[in-house]
Amino acid sequence: MPRYHVKITGQDYDAMADLVRQYRINVNTHTVEKVAGGYRVDAHANAVQLRRLETAGYSVERYEDADAAGKKRQLEVRKVSKKVSRAAEAVQVATAGQYLNVVEVEQALAAIAASPNDSFTRLIPLPNKTWEKRSGNALKIGKGSGANRSGFYFLGGVHAREWGSSDILINFAQQITQAYRTNTDIILGSQKFTAAQIKSIVNERDIYILPQANPDGRNYSMTKESMWRKNRRPAPTGHTQSKCVGVDLNRNYDFLWDFTRYFDPDSPIANSKDPCDHDVYIGPKAVSEPETKNVVWMLEQNPNIHYFIDIHSYSEDILYAWGNDVDQSSNPTMAFNNPTFDGKRGIANDAAYKEYIDPADKTKAVTLANAMSEAIRGIRGRVYSVSQSMSLYPTAGSSDDYAYSRHIVDPSKPKVLSYTIEWGSANNPTPFHPAYSEMQKIIQEITSALLAFCLAAT
Ligand SMILES: [Zn+2]
Repeated sequence: MPRYHVKITGQDYDAMADLVRQYRINVNTHTVEKVAGGYRVDAHANAVQLRRLETAGYSVERYEDADAAGKKRQLEVRKVSKKVSRAAEAVQVATAGQYLNVVEVEQALAAIAASPNDSFTRLIPLPNKTWEKRSGNALKIGKGSGANRSGFYFLGGVHAREWGSSDILINFAQQITQAYRTNTDIILGSQKFTAAQIKSIVNERDIYILPQANPDGRNYSMTKESMWRKNRRPAPTGHTQSKCVGVDLNRNYDFLWDFTRYFDPDSPIANSKDPCDHDVYIGPKAVSEPETKNVVWMLEQNPNIHYFIDIHSYSEDILYAWGNDVDQSSNPTMAFNNPTFDGKRGIANDAAYKEYIDPADKTKAVTLANAMSEAIRGIRGRVYSVSQSMSLYPTAGSSDDYAYSRHIVDPSKPKVLSYTIEWGSANNPTPFHPAYSEMQKIIQEITSALLAFCLAAT
């Protein structure tokens, strides 16, 4: 059944909560805006769902048939070549006209880690193969060693249909390694990162990138169903529908994972325990998926990581903790790890529960997010908003909350300040994977943000 990119307007908080609670709409949670007559949100939904909404009094604006438009967009993915090209022939994202396919992302990583960059880069083979037996790599960029080097961990390609996140991280790595090696500036729009600044990043910090966390899903989205989001875990026995394949990796982390226990039953949380949920199945247990295990393994292996950014699309937002409820800094005992509050979390407009955040962490998180937003604005004037992950809609089991929660669950672990970036405008056709000419501009914007972040954070 076709799936449409739409904007939905509902009259009040409950109407908007019902989009998730009752109608199971795939809402783009950070696009909620106050408009005359209530709230409006950007979403994807099928024709049956849209008819039900209209009958119930919502107003729906349709933009496009996402599956049909996505089919055309798949022509903007480079074909997987049968001949295995050498790493040295890897695609340069800055001059590419099409999305890198899943093989090319790995080739590009291998090329970045090879001579003449091998004195300051290292390929990191990930320990867990995917369900379709793909093995992938992360990359470390950093010259020198020592316990005082801050680690930065940038993740991309978690959600299958958000194709451009892998291209962004490959571009970031290609730009920074080339500039470092040749002692040159990086110029992006009106943003200039001097050779000396690049040198300070590579000589004094460790950058870890994992650009393609979900290669099975990304490949499936690029070649079959463009709107695919999950990984490709085989469907449980007895389930034959194609939507019963896969787990939403960004609902699979060990943070309030068992959401029915931790959240208020009335919370509009878009998580599901049904393996046949097309988008947000949380998996059979926390960290059940090989792809999730790889992301966590990187944090375990590299205890100098103090910053984590998970790159997603879309809505032009930079999001900081928390995602499960509204932040508060007055009551430290009202926290995710306090069972007293089980069953009370995840309602935005109540006082029963709000999540504690250390006020100094919050100040720092916002300051660094603002530095990224400024660096994005310097490319072509787009304004990315800085806000808390929790909007009207909460989440559980997501990477950013998990990464930031680790030091609270276990004080022997380092504190990891964490973010999700949602690149790209809701007004782009096929916003999860825009035309590559538009994607190129977004690649510059987020590359600029990551470079500015590395400079601003210490
Ligand atoms: Zn995503």
